[in-house]
Amino acid sequence: MNPLEDALLYPWGQNLPAPGRAKAVAPGVSWVRMGLPFALDHINLWLLGDTLDGRAGWTVVDTCIDRAESREQWAQLMETSMQGLPVLRVVATHMHPDHLGLAHWLGERFDAPLWISMSDFLMARLAVNQEDSFGGQATAEFFAQHGMTDPQVLAAVVGRKNHYASLVPRVPGHYRRLQDGQVLSIGGMNWRCISGYGHSPEHIALYCEDSRLERPVLISGDMVLPRISTNISVYENEPDGNPLQLFLDSLGKFLHLPAQTLVLPSHGRPFVGLHERVEQLRHHHQDRLDEVMQACDRQAQSAADVVKVMFKRTLDLHQITFALGESMAHLNLLWHAGRLKRYTDDRGVWRFAPA
Ligand SMILES: [Zn+2]
Repeated sequence: MNPLEDALLYPWGQNLPAPGRAKAVAPGVSWVRMGLPFALDHINLWLLGDTLDGRAGWTVVDTCIDRAESREQWAQLMETSMQGLPVLRVVATHMHPDHLGLAHWLGERFDAPLWISMSDFLMARLAVNQEDSFGGQATAEFFAQHGMTDPQVLAAVVGRKNHYASLVPRVPGHYRRLQDGQVLSIGGMNWRCISGYGHSPEHIALYCEDSRLERPVLISGDMVLPRISTNISVYENEPDGNPLQLFLDSLGKFLHLPAQTLVLPSHGRPFVGLHERVEQLRHHHQDRLDEVMQACDRQAQSAADVVKVMFKRTLDLHQITFALGESMAHLNLLWHAGRLKRYTDDRGVWRFAPA
């Protein structure tokens, strides 16, 4: 348990929604929790009571990955918690598989359109049709350039083909575009889109302060999580990107929302303490940046070297790829800020040293 969690208030304590059932957390807003076969073993989805073109039904926010177990959980949910009413639209906070995986299935089943940002829609369409999305030869070469030498890891990355499509077999061909500041009327309540960067191309959180709510509600997606820090990675398709700076800048937007806002995150439990959590996340990354800077002060570092500085525990393959992306994100921020310079050593590996 993370001691920082003591600074947060969990209105439902340890009470989770029963499997296959939705749990009301605010008027018109219900919490669904579905299993994931990863180290991160669950995702939260949200059911919002809605009426569209005179039809009553649901706007669902996020969908889970596509696998038999998830479809089965949706079938249970329809039995137990959806009152025989249809899904009217599918909102995806972003393109990652646990959020978008079943959008095509729900969409086809209910003739429900997908609402998502344009950047995430396009990146999802690209990833689903690309054999080497989140793996493959190009990613392995990119990792090698950043100092990853373990042949087992590199072979596994080369072998990880069609990774995205294995979790998201199809992405709908049409979408409704979500943008920062746009207001969606859902069940007669106004939800404002808040864009966020650094985790996915253009993540959309949803914020509502309708007077019928006991307190304002933020569906934060992966941008603000209570227990773990959001994965912020540099990817092979944008090697010089600065996602950590984008993420830290985006976090600042949430400080403009009221402190008592109920936060509905994609992983972990609903909580109150948005401002505290944003400050914790900023400190977390500042501490990591300080560690990385100190390591570079001692000796020029590759991203693979920095993984050992930032992550003291043993990592499995999945975690190593995330960790390497995270260490690049911290190095690239310091490089873009002018505190580090980078050069390739005689083995063709990027190394970072004080500027
Ligand atoms: Zn995500």
